[in-house]
Amino acid sequence: MSQLLVDVHAKPQTEEEKYERLAIVAHQTREVLKDKATVTCGSCGKERRIIHCCKCFYCGIFYCPRCSRIHFKEEDL
Ligand SMILES: [Zn+2]
Ligand SMILES: [Zn+2]
Repeated sequence: MSQLLVDVHAKPQTEEEKYERLAIVAHQTREVLKDKATVTCGSCGKERRIIHCCKCFYCGIFYCPRCSRIHFKEEDL
């Protein structure tokens, strides 16, 4: 997936970068509606069970536990 080229943890600077994030959200939403169990992490691209993922309140992207720590800047905890 092209999402791996996007640094989703950085603030989007251009319209194109905003659309890239929206594309990730749209892809994940399709996954959720399809099997209601798994979703592809918006950062590392690994498939994870939804109950183990966090959805960011701001960008709306799902992240696996590992990438959630990076996204929510809690890597030091
Ligand atoms: Zn991840
Ligand atoms: Zn976010």
